[in-house]
Amino acid sequence: MGLWTSRLFVAAVLPWLTPGEEPAAPPPLSLLIFNAGASSLVMEVAREEVERILGGIGVSTEWTDTSTGTGAPNRFHVKVMVMPNDPSGWNLPFYTLGVTYIVDEVPDTIYVFMPVVEKAVGDHRFAHKIGVAVGRVIVHELAHVMNPARGHADAGLMAPRQRRRNLFGACLDLDQTSAEAFRTGLARATMLTAATNGQ
Ligand SMILES: [Zn+2]
Repeated sequence: MGLWTSRLFVAAVLPWLTPGEEPAAPPPLSLLIFNAGASSLVMEVAREEVERILGGIGVSTEWTDTSTGTGAPNRFHVKVMVMPNDPSGWNLPFYTLGVTYIVDEVPDTIYVFMPVVEKAVGDHRFAHKIGVAVGRVIVHELAHVMNPARGHADAGLMAPRQRRRNLFGACLDLDQTSAEAFRTGLARATMLTAATNGQ
């Protein structure tokens, strides 16, 4: 609670980055992976897909498996919770693939519901397709984290619902507006975290 309070205070006194002011090269995005629901092969493919999509908008990622590491201290991290359960009991629609809760100014946790992703892909044995789908769900939720105000797009990766073939079919990328919002949000979150930590 104290951390959020100080972040909110910092947000009040620092200028906001606006589109067009973001650095030419956005900072890397640190992901802390809590994997309780996917095989290592699925996560490997998911990582490749996240790196493909975000690499395409100039954002690199640093992955830390929390079973073996904690990530660099004093950095902005997003926690990626790969859940073994569906969202029953979460007060979410049963078809929810992933979610982030926007309760603080800078949300920092996303959840992926593996049974829902596997069911949407159609067969839990298709590790490659499932991995691609997990990667796309992660990017979709990360985009919400980076810019909660941006919301959904009419089509593509940021559409509120995804057709089955969108989950693992031919390349699906962030639209330009969502990409700019992502880069701006990442730069801002990184700056706020650094300021909060006195760097
Ligand atoms: Zn969404």
